Amino acid sequence: MLRNVVVIGSGPAGLTAALYAARANLNPLVIEGLEAGGQLMLTTLVENWPGYRDGIMGPDLMGEMRAQAERFGAEILRGHVTAVDMQSTPFKVTTSDASYESRTLIIATGATARLLGLASERSLLGHGVSTCATCDGYFFRGKPIAVVGGGDTAMEEAIFLTRFASSVTVIHRRDTLRASKVMQVKAFANPKITFEWNAEVEDMTDVSRGEVDGVSIRNLVTGERKVIPVEGIFVAIGHTPNTSLFKGQLEMDANGYLITHSGSKTSIPGVFACGDVQDHVYRQAVTAAGSGCMAAIDAEKYLEGVPQHLGKTTETMNDELRTMK
Ligand code: NDP
Repeated sequence: MLRNVVVIGSGPAGLTAALYAARANLNPLVIEGLEAGGQLMLTTLVENWPGYRDGIMGPDLMGEMRAQAERFGAEILRGHVTAVDMQSTPFKVTTSDASYESRTLIIATGATARLLGLASERSLLGHGVSTCATCDGYFFRGKPIAVVGGGDTAMEEAIFLTRFASSVTVIHRRDTLRASKVMQVKAFANPKITFEWNAEVEDMTDVSRGEVDGVSIRNLVTGERKVIPVEGIFVAIGHTPNTSLFKGQLEMDANGYLITHSGSKTSIPGVFACGDVQDHVYRQAVTAAGSGCMAAIDAEKYLEGVPQHLGKTTETMNDELRTMK
């Protein structure tokens, strides 16, 4: 069966795209992916989703979004995509169990926050360990916290967190920052920020109590170990956009994020992208959802003129679009 819309990914971007496509009678198929529900499934209370004045738990919010999309006819499939062929239309999407053909694709595969890989970090994620200062900074009013990393994200988060925290300790594995000079100057000038240089995080405590009370670090030069008492740890060591399936097919920036233009359009007509897979700046659930809405509307508009595109190569379609301009 030829589909109108296949959405790859089921975070706020993918499910909002599915909701809008379903309400436009396009019978979208959503392929959930390995981390169904996306990054909000790893959080606890979400206080910045408009409409919930007391906040809502991340997994509950995603459950509601999923049910809402299904209520309007979106079909949501467990499983993850192993290959996508966009060289001609209809596009072909292969999962571990089946393959699907579709007139349009909406890519909402998100980005994954890099973690240090400690077992304690995984256990305490959402319970004092966070990968998003904008989302969780407010929970740490008057408390000492640590930020791990030395890039622009780490400095931006450290500076932002000084609005709430009593102190911010930046833990960085080298003795110089990767962050831009302007960001470094701001961070060094902030009296609430101190630095632990050449330091590696060895452990986060206290897993048995399910909350953070300290971070254990080791100095990579002297070998000295110490525990810094903190109540929150922000891991800011970068994000990886989930775009390996699209390498060589879609235009990406140097960091692997999909490039979109005029809303959600990618370099292939009929393929749209939304959410963190194409946004390394805002990375918020609400902006992801907004861009999911845009992708569904863009797909709908594209489908209005699609019969003439079917069976053509993407190169021919791009040529046609260029002559139309
Ligand atoms: P980056 O890759 O630039 O920095 C990651 C930081 O984390 C580095 O300091 C790196 O250390 C450290 N790190 C990586 N892996 C580990 C690990 N396993 N253990 C300990 N430390 C680790 O990522 P960012 O998210 O900071 O930035 C991504 C891009 O976005 C950059 O181009 C940045 O300029 C841009 N950006 C711009 C902003 C702005 O202009 N306002 C704000 C935020 C991001 P090391 O330095 O030793 O490699």
